[in-house]
Order: sequence, then structure tokens, then C-alpha cells
Amino acid sequence: MYKLIDGKAISKQIKDELKEKVAGLKAEGVEICLAVIQVGNDPASSVYVGNKKKACEYIGIGSLSYELPEETTEEELLALIEKLNADDKVNGILVQLPLPKHIDEDKVIKTISPKKDVDGFHPMSVGALSIGQPGFVSCTPAGVIQLIKRSGIEIEGKECVVLGRSNIVGKPMSMLLLRENGTVTVCHSRTKDLKEVCRRADILVVAIGRPKMIDASYIKEGATVIDVGIHRDENNKLCGDVDFESAKEVAGAITPVPGGVGPMTIAMLMSNCVESININ
Ligand code: NDP
Repeated sequence: MYKLIDGKAISKQIKDELKEKVAGLKAEGVEICLAVIQVGNDPASSVYVGNKKKACEYIGIGSLSYELPEETTEEELLALIEKLNADDKVNGILVQLPLPKHIDEDKVIKTISPKKDVDGFHPMSVGALSIGQPGFVSCTPAGVIQLIKRSGIEIEGKECVVLGRSNIVGKPMSMLLLRENGTVTVCHSRTKDLKEVCRRADILVVAIGRPKMIDASYIKEGATVIDVGIHRDENNKLCGDVDFESAKEVAGAITPVPGGVGPMTIAMLMSNCVESININ
């Protein structure tokens, strides 16, 4: 019998803890403020931005919203980021991705001050993570660690396999599992004997962007399976990179989609905003 890892409940628990912390900070006169920038009106981005603002409101974090037109130039966007970098009242800056094609995302990410980089995408934040120094950690992999730990699953000494090596999920995920003293293997599209490597995992984190690809045949009996993927299946229902119905037959613990990793990403963004007061 598998244990269902409930991302909705765990993210709520984290947000409630943060709410209490923020109330305490307010009582000491410390206010936290997140600036959210969206360029253009991609509907999915608008939903994400709306959810981020709602979470700020729930926790008691102030939010500044910049909804810029699609034709905003790169120079205009960079100038706004510089202005927010210099504003002492702003603790975190989030630029919703993807950006319109005429804007260089890398340049934008590098312009955000590492002290306000609550998405954890700046090369300085990534570097700090890899050498074990304090800094912002990319929200989705940070959320995965919380899901595992708060479900009472030990990482130390475990065989951890990360499927995917993207800059925003796979790579920081492997660094975080290493920081928790897991024995980490990272797989990607050129990995040979993928099934065999995955079947070694006590903890398998899947972030490959392939709907329902990982079924029971990739999973060791009793393993913890974390599904980062998010897709719409042939019936327009949300699904992950893991074939849940098949995987649950062998997994010891598993995240659902929706209601697993998804809700954790915003909770960890909020956590990064609160942490921002400790990052100099
Ligand atoms: P990317 O497409 O950037 O990376 C996918 C990775 O998987 C690559 O490293 C690629 O290898 C590897 N890969 C692809 N196909 C295979 C295969 N058949 N066998 C082995 N490895 C393979 O994806 P992301 O990391 O951005 O996202 C992964 C998934 O997570 C997506 O479904 C995305 O929607 C979801 N996601 C969900 C979030 C959430 O909040 N829940 C947040 C971010 C992402 P290679 O490097 O060799 O090309």
C-alpha cells in the first residue's frame, strides 16, 4: 500500500508557518514586499502571477504588480529591474517567464540583484547552492525537498535518482539532494539503461517533460516517487511525467498530479521572500 504525498496539505502548512512568521516580523516593524513583473498577457502566465499575488496576500507579504505591454523593450524592462534593485522597500523581484522573444531572458535574470532573486535563477544563486553557501534556491526543487522531509522520508544515505537535468529543476534538485546527504545520480536523454538506473532509486524525482512516461517498470518496490511533470492528457485532464496508476502499484510513497509538487512551488517562493531579509 502506497502513501500519497499531499502537496496541497504540506504547502498549506508551510504558508501558515510563514504567515505567523510574517506577523511576528510586522510586529517588529519589518515589512516584506515582492515585486512581480509580467510582460504581455499570456493566459497561463496571468494565472501564475494571479496565484502568486494571492499567496502574498494570504501570508501578509506586500506585492507590487507591473503588468507591461507585449511590446515593452528589453531596455525598458532592464531599467525597471534596476529601479527595483535600488528600492530598499522591495525585498524580492520576480519576472514571470517566458518573456516575449525579443527580450533576452538570460540578461533579465542576470540583471536582478542576487539579493532579491527570489526565483533562485541568477548564476550567483546557482553558484552559492553548488558550493553550499547561503542564497536563494529555485522554488520547485526546494519544494520537492520539503515534500520528502515533511512526509517523514529520510534522504541521508539513500540512492536518489533525478530524471532530467534542466537548470530550473534537474540540476538544482541534484544539488539539494546532495546537500541532504543523498547519493545522487542524474539521468538525461543520453543516459544508457535508463530503466535500470531508475530501478536503483530509493528516491526517484522525475522532471523530463514526457507525459506518463515513467511506469512501474522504472520503479523499485517501495521507492519514493516525486513527479514534477505537468501536462494535459488526451482527455484534457492534468497528468505528470509518471503514469500514476501503474507507479502506485510498486511505489512506497508517491506524489499525485495535480496536488503534489505544483502547490509547493508557490509556497517556496513565499518562503524565499521571507528568507530575503536574511540574505545580504
Ligand atoms: P526541460 O525540458 O527543460 O528538461 C527536461 C529534461 O529531461 C532534460 O534534461 C532532458 O534531457 C530530459 N529528458 C527528456 N526526455 C527524456 C527521455 N526520454 N529520457 C531521459 N531524459 C529525458 O524540462 P523542465 O525541467 O523545465 O521541466 C520538466 C517537467 O516539469 C515538465 O513537465 C514541466 O512542465 C514540469 N515543471 C513543473 C513545475 C511545477 O511547479 N510543478 C515547475 C517546472 C517544471 P537532455 O538534457 O539530455 O535534453
